[in-house]
Amino acid sequence: MASIFSKIVAGEIPAYKVAENDEFLAFLDINPMAMGHTLVIPKQEIPYIFEVDDDLLGRLMVFAKRVAKAVEASVTCARIGVGVVGLEVPHCHIHLIPLQNSVGEMNFGGPKLSPSQEELAAMAQKIQSNFK
Ligand code: AMP
Repeated sequence: MASIFSKIVAGEIPAYKVAENDEFLAFLDINPMAMGHTLVIPKQEIPYIFEVDDDLLGRLMVFAKRVAKAVEASVTCARIGVGVVGLEVPHCHIHLIPLQNSVGEMNFGGPKLSPSQEELAAMAQKIQSNFK
């Protein structure tokens, strides 16, 4: 069965997309740790990051860097935290999380924000406009 992220790639379910090319897609995490929390995925459904072919992994990281710069330009933050967990969705994804001042802000098991659809749409649009 296709992963939920493959369904986003196929356009079968909606997402707040921020950047895309032939190989990769970036979209907002639906339950963000911070506003601007973005997921970067290869469109090809590969369950786990360390199963990704070396060349594709290199290009994924370079794409994620461009997305991180767009997130950084869109929200006030000190750093973009980078994380991989993959326990919930078996489709390789990199978390990009705007951080203010503490590593504790990257708490994957902690409480999440519940932004409105309007807030997510506005954030996605802002990141999109800063993506180079
Ligand atoms: P993990 O697999 O543990 O790295 O977590 C998967 C992440 O995907 C979580 O942060 C979820 O909030 C996020 N997520 C799950 N479904 C969606 C979706 N349909 N759109 C955006 N983010 C999602």
